[in-house]
Parts: sequence; structure tokens; C-alpha cells
Amino acid sequence: MTNSFRCFQVSQQEPKEITADVVSVPYNNLPDGEVTIRVVYSSVNYKDALAATGNPGVVRHFPHVPGIDAAGIVESSDSDQFQVGDKVVVTSYELGVERWGGWSELIRVKPEWIVPLPDGLTLKESMILGTAGLTAAMCVDSLLHHHIKPESGKVLVTGASGGVGSFALSLLKRCGFEVTAVSGKAEYHQRLLDLGAEEVVDRLAIDINSDRPLLKGHWAAAIDTVGGSLLSHVIRSIQPQGCVAACGNAGGAQLDLTVFPFILRGVTLDGIDSAWYPIEKRAALWQKLATDWKLDDLDSRAKVITLDQAQQTVESLLEGTHQERTIIQVG
Ligand code: NDP
Repeated sequence: MTNSFRCFQVSQQEPKEITADVVSVPYNNLPDGEVTIRVVYSSVNYKDALAATGNPGVVRHFPHVPGIDAAGIVESSDSDQFQVGDKVVVTSYELGVERWGGWSELIRVKPEWIVPLPDGLTLKESMILGTAGLTAAMCVDSLLHHHIKPESGKVLVTGASGGVGSFALSLLKRCGFEVTAVSGKAEYHQRLLDLGAEEVVDRLAIDINSDRPLLKGHWAAAIDTVGGSLLSHVIRSIQPQGCVAACGNAGGAQLDLTVFPFILRGVTLDGIDSAWYPIEKRAALWQKLATDWKLDDLDSRAKVITLDQAQQTVESLLEGTHQERTIIQVG
């Protein structure tokens, strides 16, 4: 056991000045918890980018270590559920928010947050998926649960160039759906077609300012990662008995709507929260991502960086120029 470990630490120097650096901190600084994990890979999510800049909506205490995802090997355990040497995955709950997160050589967490790495996935692949892949899987699961089938019609995915959106597209394709992708990145449209989108709609060409309570019902269902006016537009464009799985707010948090899509078309709006998704359902979806829903091209879908390069990725996420997934090789 080492006396210290490296982590990406966000600090508040003056009341408003936030700094972030890769530092070495004493082992005793790890929070309390039963299971200590040596992190091999973490990943970079939108929430991590907010945490890395000290956003008060995410970071409650300084110093803080971002990283809502971590995959690694159990280093010590006071829990009967996990033994030293087990390969495990932890995503969200309070990791990287209330508790120091995965951008660190070591994390310490409750056993209730840990999923054994399923056979069929490597630690690296589990972080290429990470919270983005799990959330996309939850969205697809939601549509299936609401009886949306490939024969129901086309499914729309917004924010399609992002982590959640690109996995949602691939998983829907894997389940036999015809997918229309919405993206604001013209240079990425061909990649979305290559990933299996039937067509790509330019986000900037969508008239999100229409105030009509219902729009032409184009889509059987949708997975929305953007929120705001685009989500309002999408809900009003869903066919009768359709469903929208909404998980994001990259484009805004306000939702301006009437009740008509719900009471005249029977549209369901299903909110997706991966942070507190129950561990049993979480383990079942990880299992699915390792088997029936395993994507063949996972290794090619993420850029691999080091802890020292994380700041650069944070900036591109916050500017909206980031694409697909970036993972951090920590150990
Ligand atoms: P990314 O940053 O990877 O992707 C977000 C995508 O949204 C971008 O690629 C872009 O896609 C689009 N976008 C970005 N900025 C804007 C904008 N201002 N207006 C409209 N569209 C925009 O993020 P993730 O895929 O990791 O996460 C997507 C969203 O889902 C985030 O809001 C995140 O916080 C949320 N999330 C929620 C979870 C939950 O449990 N509910 C879990 C994980 C993520 P394009 O250019 O192709 O249109």
C-alpha cells in the first residue's frame, strides 16, 4: 500500500478563484468507506467538466476530485461482497460529486455502489461506455418498456454526437430500430450515418421557436439528451402513444409546453436518472451491455488520455465541441 496517490484536484483559492491540478495527496485523505479501489480507467462526462471548473451545482466542498465513473481492481475491502483483486465498476451515486471521484489512482466507496465487471467487458470497455453508455441503455430500456418496437416507426436521438447520444443511436440500431439523429455538428453527420443513423437532421435548422401546442407527429419515440426548447419541440412532434426518454440538459433546463401532447396523443415523457438508478437494475443493464447489447466497435469509440490531459477535454466539453467519448487511463 502506498502512502500517497495522484489525483486531479479542484481547489478554491480565493472565494471565487478555482484552480485544478494533478497533485499527490496522502493516503489518509481518502474518504471513509468499506472498499478501496485502484482505478485503472475513468472517463470524462459533461458533469465531470462542470466539476472540474468548480461549478457549484456539482461541487459542494473543496478540494474536490471529479470523475463520476471509475473501473479498477479492489485494493482492500471490509465488505464480504468484494475481495482484493476483484475487477469492478462504479458509476455515479455520489462519486465525483459529494465524494472524491474517479480522476484518481484510488477511490474509496460503499459496496452498495459497486458492480462486478461483467464477463464480456474489459475495464477499458466499461469506461468507454461509462455513465454515458449506461444512461443510453436506460433510455433504450425505457422505450422498450413503453412498448415502442421497431415497427412502431422512426426514433429520434438528439445530441447525437455526444457520449449518451452516440451510444443511444448504436443501441437502438442494435435493437432493430430506424434512427434519425439530430446533431448541430455538420462535420459529424457522415460519422452518424456510419454509426447507423438512417438520416441526420441539422439541429440548427429545426424551428424550435414555433409555439403551436402540437406539431406534425413524425416520430414514434425519442431519446433526448439536450433538453430545453429542442425537447419541447420533440415532445410536440411525437406520434400518438409514443414515448420520449429525457436525460439531458446540454441545451437548456426550461421546458415550455402545454399538456396537449400528453392528453391528446397519450405521449409519455420518461425521466432518466442514472445517478440513483438501483444497483440490481444497474447490474442487469451492465450485463446486457456485455452480452446482447455489446457493441463490436467499442475500442475505436473513445480517445484515451492521461490525468494530466484532462483539462483540455473539459474545455471542449464545455464549449460543445467534444465528440463521443474520452476516457482517462489512470493506472
Ligand atoms: P456530451 O457533451 O458528450 O454531448 C452533449 C451533446 O449535446 C453535444 O455533443 C451536442 O450534440 C449537444 N449540445 C451541446 N451543447 C448544446 C447546446 N447548447 N444546445 C443544443 N445541443 C447542445 O454530453 P453527454 O452525452 O455526456 O451528456 C448529454 C446530456 O445528458 C448532458 O446534459 C448530461 O448532463 C446529461 N446526462 C444525464 C444523465 C442522467 O442520468 N440523467 C447521465 C449522463 C448524462 P450535437 O452537436 O450533436 O447536437
